[in-house]
Formats: sequence, C-alpha cells, structure tokens
Amino acid sequence: MSFEPTVDEAKFNASSKLIRATALRGTPLEGDSCGNCLYYLQPDDPLAFCWHEKFQCLVSTNWWCQFWAMREE
Ligand code: SF4
Repeated sequence: MSFEPTVDEAKFNASSKLIRATALRGTPLEGDSCGNCLYYLQPDDPLAFCWHEKFQCLVSTNWWCQFWAMREE
C-alpha cells in the first residue's frame, strides 16, 4: 500500500516564507545553534520551544537562524 503526500499549500507556503525570512538552516553555524541560543527554552533537550517572536514553535538543538542571540550565563 502506498500513500500520496497530502500538502496543505497554505502551511507549506508559510513555512517556506519563514525559512526565507529567517535564513533558518538545519545545521549549526560556526558553533552557534538553537541549543546555545537565548531563545531556546530548554537548553538540555534535543527539541525545544523557540520563543523568538518570528518562531514561537518547536525547533531542534542543531538548527540555526539569523536571529541567534547569545544566552546570558
Ligand atoms: S532564534 Fe533562531 S537560533 Fe535562536 S532558538 Fe530560535 S530558531 Fe534557533
């Protein structure tokens, strides 16, 4: 049995727009990543909520975007 992908065009377009607007990528940049970003809510978890106003969604510890900011220790 095979299934055809069902894509919600509006959500697909919104995701694409977010990626373009934030330069979001799936790998760290020069040691910076979501996992050590100010906006990553649970630094010890592999997935966590990003509370930056552009995101407000789950992201991965290894991702990076142009809004990366140093976490205050
Ligand atoms: S602001 Fe960007 S780098 Fe920081 S946690 Fe959110 S998506 Fe990751």
